[in-house]
Amino acid sequence: MAWIHNAIILPLLEPERHRGLVRRLRKIERFESLSSDEQRQFQEKKLRSILQHAYQTTPYYRRLFDDKGFHPTAWRLGRPLPVPVLTRDLLRVNGDDLRSRAFPDAMLRKATTGGTTSAPVAIWRDVEGLRDKTAMQYHLNRYSGFDQGTSVLTIWGAERDLTLNPGWKWRLYEQRLMRRYNAGAGQLSEAVLASFAEKLNRYRPRIIFGYAATIGIFADYLLSLNRPFHKPSRLIVTAEPITPEIHEKIERTFECPVTEHYGSRDIGMVAAQCDEGHRLHFHPAACYVELIDSGQTTEGPMYRLVITDLLNRGMPMIRYDTDDCVLVEDTPCACGSWFPSVKTVLGRAVDNFPLPDGSFVTGIAVTAAVARIREGFLHVRQIQLIQKGILHLHLRYVAEGELIDILAELKRFREEVEKLFQVQMRWTTERVTEIRRERSGKIRFCISEVSAPGRPVAV
Ligand SMILES: [Zn+2]
Repeated sequence: MAWIHNAIILPLLEPERHRGLVRRLRKIERFESLSSDEQRQFQEKKLRSILQHAYQTTPYYRRLFDDKGFHPTAWRLGRPLPVPVLTRDLLRVNGDDLRSRAFPDAMLRKATTGGTTSAPVAIWRDVEGLRDKTAMQYHLNRYSGFDQGTSVLTIWGAERDLTLNPGWKWRLYEQRLMRRYNAGAGQLSEAVLASFAEKLNRYRPRIIFGYAATIGIFADYLLSLNRPFHKPSRLIVTAEPITPEIHEKIERTFECPVTEHYGSRDIGMVAAQCDEGHRLHFHPAACYVELIDSGQTTEGPMYRLVITDLLNRGMPMIRYDTDDCVLVEDTPCACGSWFPSVKTVLGRAVDNFPLPDGSFVTGIAVTAAVARIREGFLHVRQIQLIQKGILHLHLRYVAEGELIDILAELKRFREEVEKLFQVQMRWTTERVTEIRRERSGKIRFCISEVSAPGRPVAV
């Protein structure tokens, strides 16, 4: 069934993303059948070709490489790439100079960065690159038994990306033949969660795919109903860091394995978690990963995730700063794969709290600690923790009930957080009626407005 979708229907109905899909999928399969040495050689060749292309066709990289006296042909795998990290600010300032002159405008497609802390920035992709990215995403899905035609319920956050949805024919096909059902949502009200549950039981999907935190909230809702509900075979979660507690909770609720994927609007889907070692592996045919030391946390050293996109020649992204921080493990992964892997995505740098000694408390550690005590909360409904100064935490919360009960719960929360910080913090609190999800659908639980002392954000 998948073959008919991949070879005929998808390319016919939506050629923009799917032309040559079978050929592209086969290419990735062929890559995976190579030995690890051959795969590394392939990646090196691909990366050098992107460097050369960037040098020859973009004013930005031409200038940069010339300044550094660097020529792409001189580069070898394992050697540093002598260009600064490409931040969103650099993207904003140099946008046009980063566009490859090898493509006419008609061959480029615009996407905007998914950043929520700053204004969106345009990223251009060549159409072939866009199709390669689609194939890569489908390929990563197949690791989890999700192919075209497998029934799937997609659960998004506050806003679904509708730009790729080309019309009624597509929607009809999506539901009737591909068996893809979307549960897009506004704010996650009771009514919205009820509609998710209704779709889950009506369509009985094999896969649930969507935002981790949203699926976590959905799991809570289903449990609160105390009624039987359909169990899928697999959950694929993406788009936001997930705490071990939420991972475990949704696994238990839906009684099936949970796989995390990593990607963004900027670079597409590039990593999938393995079942054996539970690490996220970055696909070397899609990207080249660098990890930049970003300081100590209570869970070990933290690294900034910097990615060179191997599937976009329209606007070469070399050493792109994803703005995400990760934890890694030194040992080889239990699954045996050499593909670069990370243990945990901690989320954006601004989701982690710097301390006066230069170390960090990760947002994910705070989230996990709070999740443990929050089960017992009856009055405090929502919390957002904002670091206003290096020793100043501001707590925003939504609550109902008697003030004395609310204050008792807030005190427990503060104690739990202070255990992690281990320094005396000044607290301020603010009661609000609602903590809204962001435009992307994410809930930002931890926000730091403080930059780490004496440490550049990225090198
Ligand atoms: Zn693995």
